[in-house]
Amino acid sequence: MSAQILSGTEVAAAVQADVAERVAALATRGKSVGLATVMAGDDPGSSIYVRNKHRAADLVGMLSFDHHLPADAAQEHVEGLIMALNADPSVDGMIVQLPLPAGLDGNLAVQTVDPAKDADGLHPHNLGLLLLDRPGPRPATPTGIMRILEHYDLAVSGSFAVVVGRSFLVGRPLALMLGAKGVDATVVQAHSRTPDLQNLMRTADLLVVAVGQPEMVRGEDVRPGAVVIDVGINRTEAGLVGDVDFASVSEVAGSLTPVPGGVGPMTIASLLTNTVAAAERAVGLV
Ligand code: NAP
Repeated sequence: MSAQILSGTEVAAAVQADVAERVAALATRGKSVGLATVMAGDDPGSSIYVRNKHRAADLVGMLSFDHHLPADAAQEHVEGLIMALNADPSVDGMIVQLPLPAGLDGNLAVQTVDPAKDADGLHPHNLGLLLLDRPGPRPATPTGIMRILEHYDLAVSGSFAVVVGRSFLVGRPLALMLGAKGVDATVVQAHSRTPDLQNLMRTADLLVVAVGQPEMVRGEDVRPGAVVIDVGINRTEAGLVGDVDFASVSEVAGSLTPVPGGVGPMTIASLLTNTVAAAERAVGLV
């Protein structure tokens, strides 16, 4: 293996230490910081994510509120709960755990969240602020990826970036962030209908893969020395794997995020950052 391993676990620890300090500073002003999660149904993957978010919130000194609805909850019930949390001053940040079970509209649920309490940064208002390059809560996973690039001082400006995947959760907002003025990558957004994807990926200085296909990207798809960010989390019989074949890509890439321990911990760190920032705004600190 020749690639430098980009440890999200390590970067997340630094981000969480900063969040913990900010939570403690707010406590001295009598302000607690609260994170609420809203989940419906019993998807095992979602249950693990929610549990990890509460554990992380506890570790940085935040209060956390776990709201779990049955899979057959009505849309109005979900939105009613979100509106109650919007009005609750002890809740500074909120997450709607997606996807919601069939029959529930996750987009409508996210739109019901007060944009000021949007810990995931996915409310249309906040996605609009991202598009306009104005401050606001940013989507958690792409923000986490940007932090990894920054932490390891990897050159983004002037690079040619290929982002594979165009979900509103990861691919689209990340492409906007990488191409923003001052960040200055030249970005191509690829997806399942992109012709000759392998050749395109081989031209990337920075390759981000967010598709949900176990180990789809192999060493021969990567330009020697490229920075490769693996967003995928796929549960297979062999355990948790990314969208990148770690064994072959780590022989070719210059730097690579592992799965687990790469982007995943950064997503949680970013939503804690969005939550503490919301609490700081609530008391007029920023
Ligand atoms: P998604 O909404 O299903 O989007 C997948 C994207 O990948 C779509 O744009 C799709 O193209 C594209 N795609 C699918 N198969 C492809 C192929 N063979 N070649 C090229 N493009 C392909 O998924 P997502 O929510 O973005 O998540 C992607 C992965 O990241 C999943 O494994 C998910 O679990 C993981 N994830 C991880 C974190 C984390 O914290 N690490 C956070 C979020 C998601 P079309 O648009 O053409 O269908």
